[in-house]
Amino acid sequence: MSNLRPNTLRESRHPRSAELYQRACRVIPGGVNSPVRAFRAVGGTPLFIARGAGAQVFDADGRAYLDLVGSWGPLIAGHAHPAVLAAVTEALSRGMTYGAPCAAEVELAEQVVACYPAAEQVRFVSSGTEAVMSAIRVARAFTGRDLIVKFAGCYHGHADHLLVAAGSGLATFGRPSSAGVPEAFTACTRVLPLDDEAALQELFQREGARIAALIIEPLPANHGLLPQRREFLTRLRQLTSEHGALLVFDEVISGFRLARGGAAQLFGIAPDLATFGKVIGGGMPVGAFGGARRIMARLAPDGDTYQAGTLSGNPVAMAAGLATLALLERESGWERLEARGAELERLLRPVLAQAGFPVHLVRVGSLFWLSLHEAGAPRTALALSERERARFAALFHAMLERGIYLPPSGYEACFLSLAHSSADLTRFAQALREALAALA
Ligand SMILES: *Cc1c(COP(=O)(O)O)cnc(C)c1O
Repeated sequence: MSNLRPNTLRESRHPRSAELYQRACRVIPGGVNSPVRAFRAVGGTPLFIARGAGAQVFDADGRAYLDLVGSWGPLIAGHAHPAVLAAVTEALSRGMTYGAPCAAEVELAEQVVACYPAAEQVRFVSSGTEAVMSAIRVARAFTGRDLIVKFAGCYHGHADHLLVAAGSGLATFGRPSSAGVPEAFTACTRVLPLDDEAALQELFQREGARIAALIIEPLPANHGLLPQRREFLTRLRQLTSEHGALLVFDEVISGFRLARGGAAQLFGIAPDLATFGKVIGGGMPVGAFGGARRIMARLAPDGDTYQAGTLSGNPVAMAAGLATLALLERESGWERLEARGAELERLLRPVLAQAGFPVHLVRVGSLFWLSLHEAGAPRTALALSERERARFAALFHAMLERGIYLPPSGYEACFLSLAHSSADLTRFAQALREALAALA
């Protein structure tokens, strides 16, 4: 069932998870509903989580872990934050979905528009995948062009035409792309390397007049963390404008995490369209896409571009998003998250300097990545060698034994939340010191 032999010692530490996984594998492909959860990159049995509270998760066997995954980004306030739970409970008591407009959608849309100047209008969907899919459709409608440009290592959800060189999920499995995607679907997708102005320029010279949109994670966070040079991002803005193509920032991770106005604010670059997810739903399934009014006006019912969703703008999900954004505002969330990240960096530097093999810390705000690339942390989607991957697997399990839940792949970034205290960060640094010493 696994590429890696299951470790019976590890399974005996987690009998309830092991039993659930066995049952799951019978009725769910690979036992999971999203591939990275299966622990294939690190071996062993995935932990089944029974409960989360603040910065911790508790597995089905009752063990507690400091959580550095945060459900892959949404839980910026931590697990089960009382203010978010209260808002959700209140909304639930008024029914779960109406299939008609409700006030909460307007309020959250007003918030998004106020926080993110490039979005004059916004529409809600139920996942990041849907947000990107819809943004690309409206970009194609608006420009009357077909070509889409993306970057190797950037993930934009699992829509067919974007599932090319798409980051950790595929890298973890050693595949550049997915089966089941007809060549005709990706024939209109161009893939460029990150950090390479020459390749970019060359493509726009050759096909600029046919390009509808260029999409990028302004802070690529799905193949480790690959911060780009500001000049590179600026060049994207210039070239797309010169050629009449739209610049799409996929801020599904960075939006409402790096700053009130996401990566666009951090870098001072305004995209034509932006996509959101994760934090904006506060743990509920929400995505959104927004942009200039003249572009968004192409959407039905006003325009000719169809886009819809039974549960879009769901009142309970909107309540979770509103409560999360309110919390970030009330508690100076972005400043506090940056301070937490800086504190972690101070604690980890001396620990990493003593490691028996190269471990590089890459951090932007509350996002960080432990890169095991021997040659140094890359700025492009560089594969880990077999030895580097094996080191990550060993480190992952050494941390798990010490009560720290890292993302189960060497290509995944870690997420801090407002619930991570100074004591938690110290505990993390101490566990990392011990784990690295044990592996040396
Ligand atoms: C997670 C993610 C998506 C997809 O969002 P889902 O809600 O998982 O469909 C798209 N883009 C980026 C940058 C992401 O990190």
